[in-house]
Amino acid sequence: MTHENLWEKSLTTIELSISKANFSTWFKNTCIVSHINNHVVIGVPNGFAKEWLENKYQNYILKALREVDPSISSISCSVLSNDKNKNIQQNDASPKLETNKSTTFTQQTEANTTRNSINISSSKNNLNSRYRFDTFIVGEYNELAKAACVAVSENIGRVYNPLFIYGNVGLGKTHLLQSIGNAIVSKDPKQHVLYTTSEKFTTELINSIKNGTAAKFKEQYKKIDLLIIDDVQFLSGKEKTQQEFFHIFNALYQEDKQIVISSDRPPKAINTLSDRLRSRFEGGMIVDIGSPDLETRIAILKEKALQSNFYISDDSIQFIAENIKNNVRELEGALNRIIALCDLQKKEPTMQFIKSSLAELIESNQKKGVQASDILNVILDFYEISKEEIMSKARKKTIVHPRQVCMYLMRSELAMSYPGIGKYFGGRDHTTALHSYEKIANLRKTNPKFNEELDYLVEKIYKS
Ligand code: ADP
Ligand code: MG
Repeated sequence: MTHENLWEKSLTTIELSISKANFSTWFKNTCIVSHINNHVVIGVPNGFAKEWLENKYQNYILKALREVDPSISSISCSVLSNDKNKNIQQNDASPKLETNKSTTFTQQTEANTTRNSINISSSKNNLNSRYRFDTFIVGEYNELAKAACVAVSENIGRVYNPLFIYGNVGLGKTHLLQSIGNAIVSKDPKQHVLYTTSEKFTTELINSIKNGTAAKFKEQYKKIDLLIIDDVQFLSGKEKTQQEFFHIFNALYQEDKQIVISSDRPPKAINTLSDRLRSRFEGGMIVDIGSPDLETRIAILKEKALQSNFYISDDSIQFIAENIKNNVRELEGALNRIIALCDLQKKEPTMQFIKSSLAELIESNQKKGVQASDILNVILDFYEISKEEIMSKARKKTIVHPRQVCMYLMRSELAMSYPGIGKYFGGRDHTTALHSYEKIANLRKTNPKFNEELDYLVEKIYKS
């Protein structure tokens, strides 16, 4: 059996045993480089993937290989040189634009960079040096997102392009995106990095059209090595801007320039995103950031207190972490408030002081009660499916059932409107939401076991 055959068969097994996001992050651009004396060496694109595969996926890989060839007894990974890497990428079946390489373009770009680096010189890259990988705390909920960002920063333009990160507000998307930019410019200040938001991009594009400088605006974008567009959901509905962005995106992509995008939801769920832009986004790597668990919230608070040189007891940290759960931004805000109040009032951060300082914030955290995203998270957790899957149009029973239960609970617990539910699920018709509700309501009446399952889910929603 050829190496290709062996790897292809094993990948099929591995794909079924790990999540889609993990699979495409770690197994894209891998191959078998040798198979000697029952030992298989897997070629990977970078040191990061090597570490990850050897530490986390060693057993999965070995098991999958042994299913095809039981004589295999051990594996290791080896980082491929860039040339080999390129070959694999080109053979890769994942959707990639037809590359229309033009050497003249590259030469031109290089010649122009010194003369004409107005907006994208390193001083105007909009990066804030506060956001770095080393100040980013990792927990299970954001491990994959950080790993993908680090991998991109070590191989710009060569792995996961575009990289698309999504998650609710205050969960660290901007921090991660900026960290990629900072890592790149600190390694090589000559690299053209630009961080912008989709709103800023839109405003600047419109202004350039007004001022008759649109051509120059677009040309400048084409010189970028790493383009970071934050909060891309705001491009939704802006047709003309999307069109321009699409052209810039293609130009960069064809030159193997890196594009990193964030959004509060997956590409599928961004309403009125043009199909071609959506499919470009989906052609790369998509990772989501969930909500931080208690342990990570504690770790974040400890780190932030340390950074601010602020002493606070473990009990107090535990208290804040247990009561401020929505996102990292609020958590940070709570700590900053305490630091500021202690400073102003010259007080020590005793438990009592903390409780009274945060009373209002905690109350509003509780008043917010359950939100649609809480229901969604419980469902994803319980049925062990991804946000992408539940938002997708997949008709598999293992996806359809959780999706219907989710819609049902959004109606029964939050009294959301059917069109509202349809919209939440990426612009589905309200009749779909209605049908789901009725189907689950009926099932509830006829199936006591399922009824128990639902009661359990409701309990989890209010406890989480
Ligand atoms: P988003 O862009 O997802 O809305 P941000 O990146 O702006 O969130 O994060 C909000 C704040 O929380 C920022 O100050 C950021 O530095 C901080 N933050 C978020 N996640 C982490 C983390 N894992 N470790 C350290 N700080 C974090
Ligand atoms: Mg942000």
